[in-house]
Amino acid sequence: MVFARSVRKSFGSLDVLKGIDLTVPKGSVACIIGPSGSGKSTFLRCINHLEQLTGGVLLVDGEFVGYDLRDGKLYEVKDSLLCKRRADIGMVFQSFNLFSHMTVMENLIEAPMRVRGVSVAEAKASAEVLLARVGLSEKANRYPRELSGGQQQRVAIARALAMNPKVLLFDEPTSALDPELVGEVLQVMRDLAESGMTMVVVTHEIGFAREVGDDLIFMDEGVIVERGEPREVIANPQSARTREFLSRVL
Ligand code: ATP
Ligand code: MG
Repeated sequence: MVFARSVRKSFGSLDVLKGIDLTVPKGSVACIIGPSGSGKSTFLRCINHLEQLTGGVLLVDGEFVGYDLRDGKLYEVKDSLLCKRRADIGMVFQSFNLFSHMTVMENLIEAPMRVRGVSVAEAKASAEVLLARVGLSEKANRYPRELSGGQQQRVAIARALAMNPKVLLFDEPTSALDPELVGEVLQVMRDLAESGMTMVVVTHEIGFAREVGDDLIFMDEGVIVERGEPREVIANPQSARTREFLSRVL
């Protein structure tokens, strides 16, 4: 699970996150919506310590990600300890970010072998199961450039799953896709949610948030303006800012 308290992040004098409190229980799906520049990606990046926090506390599965608590003080940790904690947090980006010089299979087995020390045979066996799960068994020996955007994104999801993560973070995973390819990626994400994966999903897909999300969070200018049961928030937004945003995207 993800536990964020008073999370702040500034870049110089720019305060991007101004005290985010969020709990995502194990097995639940939190969808985050909000205008461009509101801090959604920055918050996701804080969760796996791609950004250093300016203040507050963030735990994944009860553990600090980029920090260690010693004598009541938080110290930043690097290298192997950070790598180990980060390995439990999968991230899927808008732009797929597959290794372009590697086949689909090589993309899937690289991190389990290098970070987790899994054998080639074992990594390949797991990768085959994951490729079947995202409907791409026949693409194992293809390179990313030989796949459609939707297929590449499904490989990216399988690659994140190959590390057996405790939580999966998605940053607008369908925004770069042609409209007809969005559905296949959302379907994979829906299946994952049903399988009990803990997920934090930044998305413009309000329909997905309504159907799959356990929580809908509306962020604006670095704060959580509103959160609640997705159907409730969408049908009956409490804040004028949420209403105004939803009227633009619905
Ligand atoms: P979008 O919907 O466009 O993806 P977002 O909600 O994800 O927007 P962020 O990418 O989190 O927004 O950015 C929030 C603010 O932080 C923006 O004003 C952005 O310019 C600023 N910002 C993000 N990363 C950095 C950085 N590394 N250095 C300086 N400013 C940054
Ligand atoms: Mg963003």
